Amino acid sequence: MQNETNKIPQATAKRLPLYYRFIQNLHASGKQRVSSAELSEAVKVDSATIRRDFSYFGALGKKGYGYNVHYLLSFFRKTLDQDELTKVALIGVGNLGTAFLNYNFLKNNNTKISIAFDIDHHKIGTLIGDVPVYHLDDLEERISNDHISVAILTVPAPAAQTITDRLVQANVKGILNFTPARLTVPPSLRVHHIDLAVELQSLVYFLKHYPNHEENISGKDILDLNE
Ligand code: ATP
Repeated sequence: MQNETNKIPQATAKRLPLYYRFIQNLHASGKQRVSSAELSEAVKVDSATIRRDFSYFGALGKKGYGYNVHYLLSFFRKTLDQDELTKVALIGVGNLGTAFLNYNFLKNNNTKISIAFDIDHHKIGTLIGDVPVYHLDDLEERISNDHISVAILTVPAPAAQTITDRLVQANVKGILNFTPARLTVPPSLRVHHIDLAVELQSLVYFLKHYPNHEENISGKDILDLNE
């Protein structure tokens, strides 16, 4: 992302892809302007938060007019580097890893898993969802040759830290960690942790203890977006 986004608070930055997806749909349907109330309804973020977010990047809506869809679209495209394809490596071609390789991330944004690694000889040398699978021994060389700076980790938890240390050495800047392992990384590397089992458990907990969603709008989905 560009320097200008450094000034945007992290909570705002997190919502940008969500706004972008919705603005793309609006643009595709020929709409030229949108109010913060309409946006709020669609993306489930309260309109005061939307107005504050948009003020950070200079999109000042006019009363009774709203925001210019074309302006917003070009801002998001530039800010989210949508004109540039980001290549991603995946390590661990198990059930989850295979699903990601078959899932076409390009449908919704400009990221693409272009290379995968495993240690299972039955998988090495194959193509899964058009993505070649290499031996883990080739990790550093291939990542540096392909200028890859983002990795998805879907290996068993005990293997996660060692592989992470190697990714640090290979100059990877971001890891999407699907393993339950909590990773130790230098400050220069950003880790986003998604533990599907914990998320599911947390959802079940909320359903059990806060069954009345209507009365209690502090469900995690809303919390995440409005934090
Ligand atoms: P999942 O957890 O995705 O459901 P799974 O149950 O099929 O996968 P796991 O044992 O979790 O299998 O392993 C995930 C993948 O990681 C497998 O393809 C396995 O060969 C691979 N793997 C295991 N150890 C390593 C390692 N040290 N480096 C790279 N890949 C590894």
